[in-house]
Amino acid sequence: MIAEIIAVGSEMLTPHRQDTNSLFLTAELNDLGVQVAFKTIVGDHLSRLILSIRIALTRTDVLILSGGLGPTEDDLTREAVASALSLEIQRDNDLIAALYKRFAVRKIPMSPNNEKQADVVAGAIILPNKNGSAPGQFLDVVYEGHRKIVILLPGPPKELKPLFENECRRRLASILPPRFIARRFLRIALVPESIIDAKAAPIYKQYEDVETTILAHTAEIQLHLLCAKPSLAEAQARVDELAEKLENALGESVFSATGMPLEEVVILLLGMKELTLATAESCTGGLVAERLTSVPNSSSAFSGGSVVYTNELKSIFADVPHELIERHGAVSPETTRALAEGIRRRTGASLGLGVTGLAGPGGGAPGPDAERPIGRVYIAIADGRQTTLTELNIPGDRERIRWWASQNALDQIRRKLL
Ligand code: ATP
Ligand code: MG
Repeated sequence: MIAEIIAVGSEMLTPHRQDTNSLFLTAELNDLGVQVAFKTIVGDHLSRLILSIRIALTRTDVLILSGGLGPTEDDLTREAVASALSLEIQRDNDLIAALYKRFAVRKIPMSPNNEKQADVVAGAIILPNKNGSAPGQFLDVVYEGHRKIVILLPGPPKELKPLFENECRRRLASILPPRFIARRFLRIALVPESIIDAKAAPIYKQYEDVETTILAHTAEIQLHLLCAKPSLAEAQARVDELAEKLENALGESVFSATGMPLEEVVILLLGMKELTLATAESCTGGLVAERLTSVPNSSSAFSGGSVVYTNELKSIFADVPHELIERHGAVSPETTRALAEGIRRRTGASLGLGVTGLAGPGGGAPGPDAERPIGRVYIAIADGRQTTLTELNIPGDRERIRWWASQNALDQIRRKLL
């Protein structure tokens, strides 16, 4: 079973408004085992709307339209659906009465054009809308010899969502063949998408019944696996099997096979090893600490950290000798090592992290730092026996450099703890 969503409204063909209803509807349909094959946005234009509906009916089993159910001239969805399906429009007397009552309760006169909202496509089930005046409509029809479900929903998300949840979900589930969805979500840090795909594609291509989607984020690749089957156990077995093969092929770079965020994995690993971490961050301004503290109960593993932005604070909070900074620069292997070692000593944590870098857009301060390019980042991790140091050259803007640096620091700590 496949579906199409048509978002109706000229405003969504401007740069100012986006169709978000289809995102909600897609998630709901996926949960019912229905894949969304097409999404269309059409302006408030009768003949174009009829054309889009006809095209959708030729290529999908379920069609959901959102918007264009209001009282104004440009609300044309009912008319267009009726015309595309060659069905009559009937004005429903009970709905008219309900509309008048709705206005009376609010003590405002109802203009006659509101009566249009009582128009029903012949044969449609009326879906009562508690949050607005236009009801939804549910059609189970035969179009050119094929069974089609056509659903009309109001555009405002606060009306569409409850209407789908309360009136459509169960109806659809009873019509559609039983489908259960299993999902897995693998996350990989710092490896380019092309490298991941070169390793992963030969494997996931063997699983045609599992939908594999690769999403690229800054310093992270996500592999989303989805499988729909008549039983949950069957679907789960397929995604689990594929996830395991992918994990084996991609190795240590997979930081989570269940969707867990990197910072949570780090906290978990620290806890398992009964270790603690303290941070001294310069260019990331506390981003590593912020990410770690977003994990509930992280205090057992993350002691805390300092934002050591100026040279003075690097000395005050992490005992970095002033002369060392003078000689090598603030963004230097030497200073970063000293930060990691200093914060570890000062806090008594098992591990110390130091991060320095030039996030731009301006260059480094006069002296040794002026020689270093924007995007240069140093990361040091001290464990009391040795201190590892990594030099990165991260392309992109300030936000990207800072995020990438935090991701690299967290992933290095994770790998160290494996
Ligand atoms: P109304 O009775 O409010 O006119 P309607 O069913 O006619 O409802 P529209 O007029 O098409 O719906 O849209 C009303 C409002 O709903 C829009 O201004 C917009 O804010 C929101 N909306 C419509 N379609 C979408 C969509 N696909 N995604 C997100 N918001 C939408
Ligand atoms: Mg409208």
